Amino acid sequence: PEYLSGLASTFEVVPNEHPASDEQREAMIDKPAFGQLFSDSMVRMTWKQDGGWSDRKVEAYGPLKLDPAATVLHYAQEVFEGLKAYHHADGSIWLFRPDANAERFQNSSKRLALPALSTEDFLGSVAALVKQDAAWVPTRREYTLYLRPFMYASECYLGVRAPHQVDYCAIASPSGPYFPGGVKPVSIWVEDRWFRTGPGGTGFAKCGGNYAASLVGENRGAQHGCEQVCFVDAASGTYLEELGGMNMFTVHKDGHLETPSLTGTILPGVTRRSVIQLAQDEGHAVTETMIGLTDLLDDIRSGEVTEVFACGTAAIITPIGRFKSENFDETVADGGSGPLTMHLRDELLGIQLGEGEDPHNWMWRV
Ligand code: PMP
Repeated sequence: PEYLSGLASTFEVVPNEHPASDEQREAMIDKPAFGQLFSDSMVRMTWKQDGGWSDRKVEAYGPLKLDPAATVLHYAQEVFEGLKAYHHADGSIWLFRPDANAERFQNSSKRLALPALSTEDFLGSVAALVKQDAAWVPTRREYTLYLRPFMYASECYLGVRAPHQVDYCAIASPSGPYFPGGVKPVSIWVEDRWFRTGPGGTGFAKCGGNYAASLVGENRGAQHGCEQVCFVDAASGTYLEELGGMNMFTVHKDGHLETPSLTGTILPGVTRRSVIQLAQDEGHAVTETMIGLTDLLDDIRSGEVTEVFACGTAAIITPIGRFKSENFDETVADGGSGPLTMHLRDELLGIQLGEGEDPHNWMWRV
């Protein structure tokens, strides 16, 4: 606890002079419109090539001033993170493995030739924001304050080069449960025409460009009635990689799990890493491997694969009930929510909400 407060105190707080009223805030927290409504404050910090990071501030949430020639608008040097602040029953507020997000943010930045933000600054910035806007962390079960740290090249220059000036911000949006009516299996469109990234590309980095490249695939999935899209590897088009915003696991009938290996083309999810650990803690073998699409379809048909699920910060763990493309339409087992899937979901949610043991000290108090 002292660690995060100490780091947060390096940010100067300039309070919002026109915060939302208690009624307005309560209404937004009560019916969150994910990613559309934001809390009173934001964090800002600037980096200059000749001076490093400076101006650590928590200030009023509001529009950014950007020169039309700002490099990010032309060449997309932008990276981001996503994590949540959780309210516990005793009134305390916690973050789930924010050190892992800090580390991934550094790896993403490096890939885009953006400057690294130290783990101390990353943790300090999100802690300072959450402290300032603590009243925005919903208290209802499974409701959270979603945090979005990001950085972008802000200098006014149309030349293509590694940036000389960068801005960092963190904003916060109250969010409700991903499945308000209870967990439901999703159907997956297997996208085999449009790839989100490729070998040597930016797949492992959490950069805006990867998401821009995924949207035509997402649209095709939606046109075919699917809630989520699974992208396949660009090199061969035969291995499953990940969904638009989640990693994926298969559960085999002997109880072992498989998940696509981190080949550089998929995002190393914090949830993925945690699920591997939790499953191993309970005696399940977990293999990180290449999962061939035709092998998976065969294994679903034969009953070798009994459950498939996706995982990520937003939806925690989501059962996958069906795989579709122009060439197949395959239901996983009976299309319902598998027992191991739901068990792991309960375990992870229990840790995040402070209702269960936290054997690996994943939670950080703000
Ligand atoms: N893959 C992609 C492409 C994502 O955007 C996300 C969400 N950050 C994930 C996987 C899951 O990562 P995490 O568990 O860290 O949220």
